[in-house]
Amino acid sequence: MEEIEKVDLSRYICHFKGNKDQQTLLFVCGIHGNEPMSVLAMEEVSKEIKTQNIRINGTFIGIRGNIKALNVNERYIDYDLNRIWFIDKSNEKSEASEQINELAEKDEILSIINDLIHDKKQNEVIFFDLHTTSSPSVPFITINDTISNRTIAKKYPLATVFGIEEFLNGPLLSYINELGFNAVGFEGGQHIDPNSKENHKAFIWLSLANEGLIDPDLIQVKKARESLKALSKDAYKFFEITYRYEVLPQDHFKMNKGFNNFQSIKKNIPLALSNENEIISKWNNRIFMPLYQSKGDDGFFIIRRIPSFFLGLSKFLRRYNIESFLTLLPGVAIFDKKKHILVVNNNVARLLRNEIFHLFGFRQKIRHSKDLTLYIRREKQ
Ligand SMILES: [Zn+2]
Repeated sequence: MEEIEKVDLSRYICHFKGNKDQQTLLFVCGIHGNEPMSVLAMEEVSKEIKTQNIRINGTFIGIRGNIKALNVNERYIDYDLNRIWFIDKSNEKSEASEQINELAEKDEILSIINDLIHDKKQNEVIFFDLHTTSSPSVPFITINDTISNRTIAKKYPLATVFGIEEFLNGPLLSYINELGFNAVGFEGGQHIDPNSKENHKAFIWLSLANEGLIDPDLIQVKKARESLKALSKDAYKFFEITYRYEVLPQDHFKMNKGFNNFQSIKKNIPLALSNENEIISKWNNRIFMPLYQSKGDDGFFIIRRIPSFFLGLSKFLRRYNIESFLTLLPGVAIFDKKKHILVVNNNVARLLRNEIFHLFGFRQKIRHSKDLTLYIRREKQ
C-alpha cells in the first residue's frame, strides 16, 4: 500500500493504490455541492487509515464531486452535475458550454473514470456515489437493477431502492452502468445532520470490508455494521419507484411539513402545494425523497416493496435468453439485439408493460412514437 502523490489536491481526497489484480473502489463524494458530509467522512476515514496504518488490499480512491459548488455549499452552479452524464459530446463544445462549470467538473471526473476502467473487467471496479437528502432520512442504497448491483447491495444492512434511473435524466450511476460497470448510490441522511457524516463513514468502512480491501474484523467495520443495522428498519429489503412527481421550472412547489423518507402514507391525504393547488395522495404506499429544498425538480417519489419471491424469480429468469422469450408475446419485437432493446406496441401489450418488463430487467423506457415504446435491459452480457 502506498499513498500516491495527489495529482489535484482539490479533486482527490485519498488515493491508495493496490496491485494490478486487486479490486478497485472509487467513491464520488459531494456530486451535489450542498452535501458535504460524505467529503468530511472520506477525509476522516482516509486519515484513520494512515494514522493507524491499516492495510488496504486493493485500490481505494475518494474524490470530490462538484468542487465549485461544494465551496459555496450550493447543489450546483449552472447545472445539476448528476443530470448531465448523457449529454452528447458534440453538443457540449459550443461556445456557451465553455462557461458551464459542471461540464468542466464532469470532464475531470470522466477522465478519472476512464483511466480506472481502462483494461478492467466488470467486477474489478466498483463505483460508489455518496449523497444526502433534504428531508430527514434513514440511510439507504440506490442502484440500477442489475443482478451484479444487487449482489453488492445485499451485503449492507440497508434498504435498497431500484428504478431511480427511469425518472432521472443523466445520473452518474446510470452512465457507469452503461459503460458496463457496477455502481452503487448511498444516501447517508439529511444534509445538515452530523449523524450523516457518521453514516457515510460507516458505509465507506463496510464497503472496504465487503469487497475485501480491509480486514472485516477491524473494530471500525464491526461498529459500522452495527450502527447502520440499528438505524434501518428495512434492512435487506428492496423497493421500486412507481411514481415521480415532477416540479416544472415555472412551478411554485411546497411539500407539506412532516414527511420522512420511506414513511407510509394513505390515499387522499394532502402531500404538497403546487401553485396554490393541493396535491392529494393517490397511494396507500410509501413516500420517498420528499423535496424540502429550493433547488431540484423531483417533488417526491412513491415506492413499493418488491417481495423477495420476485427478486429470486427475476434472478432465475434473467439467466436465460429473455429477449427471444418475450418476443413470443403479442406486440413485442426485438429493436436492437446487441443493446438488449425491445420495442413494444403500446396498444397491444398494455397488459404486460411495466411489471413484466421490470421483472426481466428491462427498466429503462423510452417513448419511441405514439404507438411504440422501447424497453432497454440493464444487464449488458
Ligand atoms: Zn445528492
